[in-house]
Amino acid sequence: GEPQKIELKNVSFSYPGTSNPVLKNINLTIEPYQKIALVGYNGAGKTTLTNLLLRLYDVSSGEILIGGKSIKDESLESHRSRFAAVFQDFQLFAATLGENVALSSEIDEPSAVKALENAGFSKKLQNGINTPLLREFDENGIMLSGGEAQKAAIARAFYKHCPYVIMDEPSANLDPIAEYKMYQNLIEATKNKTVIYISHRLSSAVLSDKIIVMENGTVAESGTHTELTAAGGEYAKMFALQASSYKKEAE
Ligand code: ADP
Repeated sequence: GEPQKIELKNVSFSYPGTSNPVLKNINLTIEPYQKIALVGYNGAGKTTLTNLLLRLYDVSSGEILIGGKSIKDESLESHRSRFAAVFQDFQLFAATLGENVALSSEIDEPSAVKALENAGFSKKLQNGINTPLLREFDENGIMLSGGEAQKAAIARAFYKHCPYVIMDEPSANLDPIAEYKMYQNLIEATKNKTVIYISHRLSSAVLSDKIIVMENGTVAESGTHTELTAAGGEYAKMFALQASSYKKEAE
């Protein structure tokens, strides 16, 4: 289906067995088709927020609505079927490349090939998407490098037909240029989806419609790159720091 409005209303959360609130009174609206970059220092609560959206955990108080309906009123299976999620600790399976992208033995081959292309996967394989992965003792099997494996996992988000995509640092093994291209392709290929991504490199945040800056379990600021840079707050500082470190690297 088409994406609908996602709303967080007064959402607070502590992990089970802890009393320390990791998210505190979050109010947030994500409009359909928006590309949202979640940024902030380690421990700010970015991953936790995406965990709640996927209902890996339930909110401690407040509520999350999609299209005006609490996500708790949906079955877990049907809720999660609306999302494609790619995490940093993705796993590949001992199956063909195509099956790894489709997460199924039924593969729409042209879509899988296109998804891999969008993810920047460029390794030439004799048997293409029918090449078995992770089978060291299979004469046709191959082991992918970290970056290629990551691109194969990212391709899952391009492949799946669903209205919402969540990416949590999927690009840690990619160099800055490959990462930037991947996000450009992502935004291009997901015009009819809502996408929420967490990335350490702020060059990818620039591509989003809206940046949400998290700090200590709260939303410190939000807006476009231009708005937040002009506001001269936390994001502007983080961006200036990263930009200067890129300049140093380039020298
Ligand atoms: P970010 O993604 O911004 O780096 P996280 O959402 O991963 O932040 O973490 C927010 C806080 O929640 C941190 O203080 C972290 O230690 C804590 N935390 C994360 N996962 C768990 C967990 N499973 N149990 C308890 N605390 C956790």
